[in-house]
Amino acid sequence: MAKISPMEIYRLLPGTNCKECDELTCMAFASKLIEREKTVLDCPPISEDKYREKREELIELMTPPVKEIELGTGENAVKIGGEEVMYRHELTYFNQTAFIIDVDDGMESDALLERIKKINNFEIVRVGQSLKLQGIAVRSKSNDLTKFGDTVLTAVEKSNLPIILCSYDPEFLEVGLEIAVDRKPLIYAATKDNLEAVSSLALKYRCPVVASSPGDIQGLIDIVHELLEKGIEEIVLDVGSYPAGERFGQMMEDLLMVRRMAIEGGLNVRDTSALSRAGGIKALGFPIIGTPIVSWLSEKDPIEGAMAEASLAASQILRYCDILILHSLNTWSILPLLTLRQNIYTDPRVPIRVDAKYYTIGSPNENSPVLLTTNFALTYYTVAGDIESSKVSCYLLVVDTEGLAVEPAMAGGKLTASLVKEAIEKSGISKKVNHKKIIIPAMTARISGDIEDETGWEVLVGPIDSSRIEKYLDENWNV
Ligand code: SF4
Repeated sequence: MAKISPMEIYRLLPGTNCKECDELTCMAFASKLIEREKTVLDCPPISEDKYREKREELIELMTPPVKEIELGTGENAVKIGGEEVMYRHELTYFNQTAFIIDVDDGMESDALLERIKKINNFEIVRVGQSLKLQGIAVRSKSNDLTKFGDTVLTAVEKSNLPIILCSYDPEFLEVGLEIAVDRKPLIYAATKDNLEAVSSLALKYRCPVVASSPGDIQGLIDIVHELLEKGIEEIVLDVGSYPAGERFGQMMEDLLMVRRMAIEGGLNVRDTSALSRAGGIKALGFPIIGTPIVSWLSEKDPIEGAMAEASLAASQILRYCDILILHSLNTWSILPLLTLRQNIYTDPRVPIRVDAKYYTIGSPNENSPVLLTTNFALTYYTVAGDIESSKVSCYLLVVDTEGLAVEPAMAGGKLTASLVKEAIEKSGISKKVNHKKIIIPAMTARISGDIEDETGWEVLVGPIDSSRIEKYLDENWNV
């Protein structure tokens, strides 16, 4: 999408500026299409017959090279794929990697219920964002159809999260599909050996299906072609998952090649000419699944297993995997993955920011210090966290620097005396304290005089690092 300009889209729109799409002009609508804030059919006139050819061309133009697939239903449904670019800075990544945790049909009832509850409730708040798990993968392990069905039923009844049904046996998959069909589960997986039966299930129950061909891209393409020929269009790709050794290296190359061929059309990682002739580009334009859970096959120790799984998962997140099946529910092994995912899938065009206003930390009173920072979320939470851990009560006044941290805001002219004045006036902080003193970050010292002139407040230049605020206040705050 990075290569599509608003002009390319505009030439396919009616061009009447009729505003029926709630935009002032067709050009504004074109920009919203690029941002995915609107869809083609949000322009009512384009559904008219006379625009049919343009409409079809526009829909084709707007279809991402990696198909977007929705798993599950309702408010917990999760979108995977839909990516436009190889590198985030070229545009953004749209749908973060979904983390799916397994349960199996060999679990005791209490343990199963406890695990599902933990998956449902897992949440870590970081930089003001809620980080959660996205679904449950039900694995057949006992070779018992009844047990598998019961486990799927428990997952459906006790969780609203999307479900993956994991078995290579079509009989097991059908038992699960009968129970979970209303939740639109992902079928894992169709292989060259079960393709006929599993593709029939995907068609019958209208569910997305994983095409699995570990270590064999050409085999994967063949499976996808067969699925497409049968009319199945919601496909997820599995190139195999390997925690170590030569096959790990090959997996990393395959993941890169699959995504590159989908987006860029066959730039060689190794010789892909045969794949291109086979029509590999279209066949590889689907989300990719990784199964770091395989790390547990060779690791029985729970610590070593969780570490190996997290390591493989991190590698697969970095190599474009759109969905992962994991086993460990240890916070210590999931947190780094959540953090990695959050960092990669943050829109680089929109810095994470907090509201520009004053925040109370601890139990401040009218004599408490007022400290100033910017509305870049990471800056805010770092400063607020340092103050909280030092047990100091104060007001933290946040200036709207368009989401920039202190240093870039100063360099870019986004943190000025007049903005500080505006923040003081709009926030109403003057009514909370009976002094007019504000502590600014050391990096803003050069505008301290300007702030005093603009605001009439006395400016104290604070420490270079927020971890030193407690000591600074001990030595300098005496209202
Ligand atoms: S509804 Fe369609 S034709 Fe009307 S302004 Fe919007 S994009 Fe243009």
